[in-house]
Amino acid sequence: MRKPLVAGNWKMNLTPSEGARLIREIQSAFHDAAEVVVCPSFVALIDALETGAPVGAQDVFWKESGAFTGSISAGMLANLGVTYCIVGHSETRGRFGKLEVDESCLGYFSETDETVRLKIVALLAAGIAPVLCVGETLAEREAGNTDAVIQGQLSAALMGISSTDASRIVVAYEPVWAIGTGKTCDTPEAERVCGMIRSSLTGLVDGAAEEMRILYGGSVKAANAADLFAQPNIDGGLVGGASLIADEFKAIIQAAK
Ligand code: PEP
Repeated sequence: MRKPLVAGNWKMNLTPSEGARLIREIQSAFHDAAEVVVCPSFVALIDALETGAPVGAQDVFWKESGAFTGSISAGMLANLGVTYCIVGHSETRGRFGKLEVDESCLGYFSETDETVRLKIVALLAAGIAPVLCVGETLAEREAGNTDAVIQGQLSAALMGISSTDASRIVVAYEPVWAIGTGKTCDTPEAERVCGMIRSSLTGLVDGAAEEMRILYGGSVKAANAADLFAQPNIDGGLVGGASLIADEFKAIIQAAK
């Protein structure tokens, strides 16, 4: 039986004190039927952890230590008490806004399939559960390539990962065109893609596929959360904008009951 997970991705929002205040406002909605985790910016992690709430990071660098200015290792996050970490988000993959960004710029800030995999390996070694984001752009969807794109992202990210380790990974299906746009993938299609992800996981990390949680992310809000979370292959949500609004996020947490 998979326990649903509701993860809030605060992105580059909220100071440490604002973040801690938001957590204290939402804590009354936590319940035993689901796990809730908030993912603040790096600078707000410590204040968030002091509230006692489960806390995730939004990114990590895969090396243990060394001359990597500006980077944070998985060991550093684990030492603080961080238990989850997002990897491969469309914003860190540099795919968000791809049409607006010159192709030559993407290499400067993009994760690649290989760096996503390296981050997963580093997180697992540090005892942190990776939240692996996958999803297609609008152009890829319109070209009929949704499933192939996602299967490619999954197989690259999970290459060489044992099924025991894979069972600790959470996959988040986040169609790029639905992130921060207010457009939600309709529920039957979100369920279809999450089911396709589970079948693909069977081929990649056989024994773990049924245990792994698959989240939907992309304009999740109080109004659509219950419908999405009721689907057999959707085990919760990765929530961006709505996780910054206490009442909205509380209602989403309740929807995972
Ligand atoms: C996200 O950034 O992971 C996300 C799903 O954002 P939003 O809920 O705002 O679409």
